[in-house]
Amino acid sequence: MAEENSAAVLTPTPSEPKLNRVERIKKGKDPFEVWEAIERYAVTGFDSIEKDDIDLFKWYGIYTQSSDTTGYFMLRIKLPNGDLTSTQLRTIASITQRFAQGLADVTDRQNFQLHWIQIENIPTIGRELEAVGLSLKGSSGDTVRNVIGCPLSGYDPTEIIDTWPLVEEVNRRLAGNSEFGNLPRKFKISISGCVEQCAHPEINDLGLVAVRKANGEVGFEAWVGGGLGSQPHLGQRLGVFIPPSAAVEVASHIIAIFRDHGYRKNRAHARLKFLLADWGVAKFREELEQRLGYHLEDGPAGYQAPANAYRDHVGAYLQKDGRYALGLATLGSRVTADQLFALADLAERYGSSHLRNTTLQNIVLLDIAAESLEEVKAATAALGLPSETSSFRRGLMSCTGNQFCKQAVSETKIRAVNLVEALELELPNFSRSAGRQLSIAFNGCPNSCTRYQVADIGLVGSLGRPTNNPSGEKEEVFQIYLGGKLGQDAQLGHHLKQRIRATEIKDYIVNLLQRFEAEREEGESFTQYVNRNLGEG
Ligand code: SF4
Repeated sequence: MAEENSAAVLTPTPSEPKLNRVERIKKGKDPFEVWEAIERYAVTGFDSIEKDDIDLFKWYGIYTQSSDTTGYFMLRIKLPNGDLTSTQLRTIASITQRFAQGLADVTDRQNFQLHWIQIENIPTIGRELEAVGLSLKGSSGDTVRNVIGCPLSGYDPTEIIDTWPLVEEVNRRLAGNSEFGNLPRKFKISISGCVEQCAHPEINDLGLVAVRKANGEVGFEAWVGGGLGSQPHLGQRLGVFIPPSAAVEVASHIIAIFRDHGYRKNRAHARLKFLLADWGVAKFREELEQRLGYHLEDGPAGYQAPANAYRDHVGAYLQKDGRYALGLATLGSRVTADQLFALADLAERYGSSHLRNTTLQNIVLLDIAAESLEEVKAATAALGLPSETSSFRRGLMSCTGNQFCKQAVSETKIRAVNLVEALELELPNFSRSAGRQLSIAFNGCPNSCTRYQVADIGLVGSLGRPTNNPSGEKEEVFQIYLGGKLGQDAQLGHHLKQRIRATEIKDYIVNLLQRFEAEREEGESFTQYVNRNLGEG
């Protein structure tokens, strides 16, 4: 694995006076070469692993787990555009069954994430994935992360352009490339050609979004510097038109600007968004054009997804060719190995052996003939992966939480499932008359792995004194964000002052949505309702 792209190793920017710990570990190394150490540690065992190497394991998507599960790793399997064949899915199902206690999570970057992985098994897992055309290289770390895109690219009759070939090329040339193996921090790319822009260009370091000029010519505009975390920034448009043939070159130079000028002193201040905030768009564009050696054409005012766009792709969607894509809702993003094996079988029996994960932690079966649609719907519902389900189930995202994540303060997975079940019971007729799917994001800490700032309801686990017991002991509480959204009039959610006891969060949300149902004005969306009550976000 490590021998690909092992050319240039870049030294950190000389102008940075003091480097953070991870920078010191990376200095003078190609982090991707840690694979050789992983192979060695698989023989010598967990206790022999050097601390500095563990940090570099992330370049292959490997993280240590929470203190309760010491000795085990989380493993992220990157899937550009969420794209999967049934053979690949069966391989992942088999790895899940043999090495990950039978459970896998779908992530918001269209990956699969496994837990309970032991170092002894990682080389075998890497080889099995490689044999079916998948790679762990660049699944995480300070490098180009999994390139995300619309799960219906190439299938959606309303798309401006099929972006799958560009995703493949960007992934092949830029992700897992040692030239970008030592960036100041992670670099996230989203490529969108669909009208719903479900790949969230606004919150990626680079969002390439298809645009059509007045003369009909199609290309891309670039959004840069988006990212959430504890200091969220929505991306800014560079104001350029990029012909499809130049998109990889432009992306490559943008990453190189970040590599050469990004901040390496403080990891909390290292993402591209901070450099862009200091430079401004004009200076960034000037640097980009200098590196390209030519001026980019000014772009047309780009299309932006409507605020009420359905971005989850759950349900049946007519494809360009008359067949159907069937989006299936996971429950809290978790699936079992048995479900994955069964999905691979269904994809072969009824489709073209082709599936895609979505950016909202769901899974799409592609190329279903119209006459088989009802049969497949019934089969997937029986599997526990329904295509027709409540707003709550399809719109809920949940991060790993304290079951496995060492950063977590709160449990999220079980609470998320309990919340969906309670909402389905208490609000059985909650309608989509607000014109938009309701999104709920459960986070176990402020790191925003499920994008709480841009969800209708964002929940962030922390330790604190609950609002209804301000003089008591600190305990597990949730902070609340309301009314966040992307697309037109994008806004970050209102951060409420209340801190809700973790044990009371379910009742709080049920009550909140009952009030919304009772009080909202005709056609009012959840965000509008929140803004009316709390002021504009
Ligand atoms: Fe872990 Fe926090 Fe991310 Fe949840 S949001 S997976 S707790 S880092």
